[in-house]
Amino acid sequence: MCGGTILNHTAGDPDIAGVSINSRRMAPGQLFVPIKGENFDGHDFASAAIDGGAVGSLWQRDKELPEALAKAPVVLVDDTTLALQRLAASYRDELGVRVVGVTGSNGKTTTKDMVAAVLSGAFRVHKTDGNFNNHIGLPLTLLDLEENVQVVVLEMGMSEFGEIDLLTRLAKPDVAIITNIGESHMLQLGSRAGIAKAKLEIVAGLRPGGLLLINGDEPLLHEGLKQVSLPEAVEVQTFGLQAGNRWTAENVSVDATTSKFDVAGDYGLERVELPAAGTHNVSNALAAIAAAKKFGVPDEVIRGGFTGMKLTSMRIEPIRAYNGAMLLNDAYNASPTSVRAAIDLVSGLTGYKRKWLVLGDMLELGPEEEAMHGEIGAYVNPAKADVVLTFGKLSQRTAAEAAKHFRRSDSSTVASSVEEGVKAFDDKGRLIEYLRERLEPEDLVLVKGSRGMRMEEIVHDLQRA
Ligand code: ATP
Ligand code: MG
Repeated sequence: MCGGTILNHTAGDPDIAGVSINSRRMAPGQLFVPIKGENFDGHDFASAAIDGGAVGSLWQRDKELPEALAKAPVVLVDDTTLALQRLAASYRDELGVRVVGVTGSNGKTTTKDMVAAVLSGAFRVHKTDGNFNNHIGLPLTLLDLEENVQVVVLEMGMSEFGEIDLLTRLAKPDVAIITNIGESHMLQLGSRAGIAKAKLEIVAGLRPGGLLLINGDEPLLHEGLKQVSLPEAVEVQTFGLQAGNRWTAENVSVDATTSKFDVAGDYGLERVELPAAGTHNVSNALAAIAAAKKFGVPDEVIRGGFTGMKLTSMRIEPIRAYNGAMLLNDAYNASPTSVRAAIDLVSGLTGYKRKWLVLGDMLELGPEEEAMHGEIGAYVNPAKADVVLTFGKLSQRTAAEAAKHFRRSDSSTVASSVEEGVKAFDDKGRLIEYLRERLEPEDLVLVKGSRGMRMEEIVHDLQRA
């Protein structure tokens, strides 16, 4: 399956019950796959893996086999990462499983969770664990599949051209979803059009008769689609918030914990209740509904799937915070698209005394990073939020631009306990202190920033009494 040569036949013919790349987390019966990473080389841990219960190990030919493995079942391969991928691809082909692949700049994990939720009332479903979405995580997810799983929902991430192409050829999806096009990885991909092109690589692995679901609100996806050749008998459908999409929503209403909508058209899907705030999540949900429809899931099962679902944490996660304030923890990550989506969400929420935006730097945006922070600042105004606190060097630009809107002398929206509508911090502790001194029970706080900014530290502090 992986194109290797078996050594030590005398060691027997063990049944392999899965694979692991982590020698410290070997379940009995697993095959160890040593991967060479940036800091460690898994080959150094192969004997530990065998001691820890591995039934055998892959081994890269160019490395000398240690004494400890001389008697263990070993498969020699040219490249262990490639071998892992080949193993996963052929296991996928052996299983009768159907595959949903999810890519996009933002909303992959969320949409993956939603697809799994709406399908699980009708099928035995497995999904990517957390964010295991790359050239190693995706094969591991496939190799984790029990034989009785009917549908697997795979997240596909990337930072370069060619990566989605690889993942989709391994996974061979029956349904492929592109959630949106943002600005992440602009540096590597050159432009938003480049990003769209890279995401559209997902069509390369689509099965004949499969379905491609694209966010129809994104013109670059319509454009990009003209440049790709679709596999045989693949259908394309659009979803999105704009009328005219194949799948769209009507009568959308959103509060801090829930979004409600009707699926436009002749379906029994009215007042769908999504336990996730934000119209971008309505868009994600529409993709999930379209995927479920492709698999023939009844409307009431779809609706029930949403009701019971729990989103992965730190994606607009509502939390009761310090002094009873409502906190929306969106600290998982940030890019201009997702920050705008978050600002729109906060802007649309009513019934709060004051609305706070706590924004950390958006990282890895390339040479335009400062301008992009400025644009976010310009996007905020007192009609959308009452106070903007920023953390980080780049976010000083956000604060500087935002301040232009807030510095009006008639700005009555800014409560008197906050001296300014906008404040930039370079020290997280001071920002937390500032918030703690001012948060009131009827306040709403949204916390967001790139992964590297660790904005969840602010959230965790504010969860303490
Ligand atoms: P990563 O690339 O880090 O794996 P992801 O694509 O899996 O990210 P999620 O983890 O689902 O994305 O969501 C990250 C954040 O993106 C959410 O908290 C939300 O703010 C925002 N987001 C989710 N869906 C959308 C969307 N359709 N459009 C814009 N922003 C979105
Ligand atoms: Mg993700």
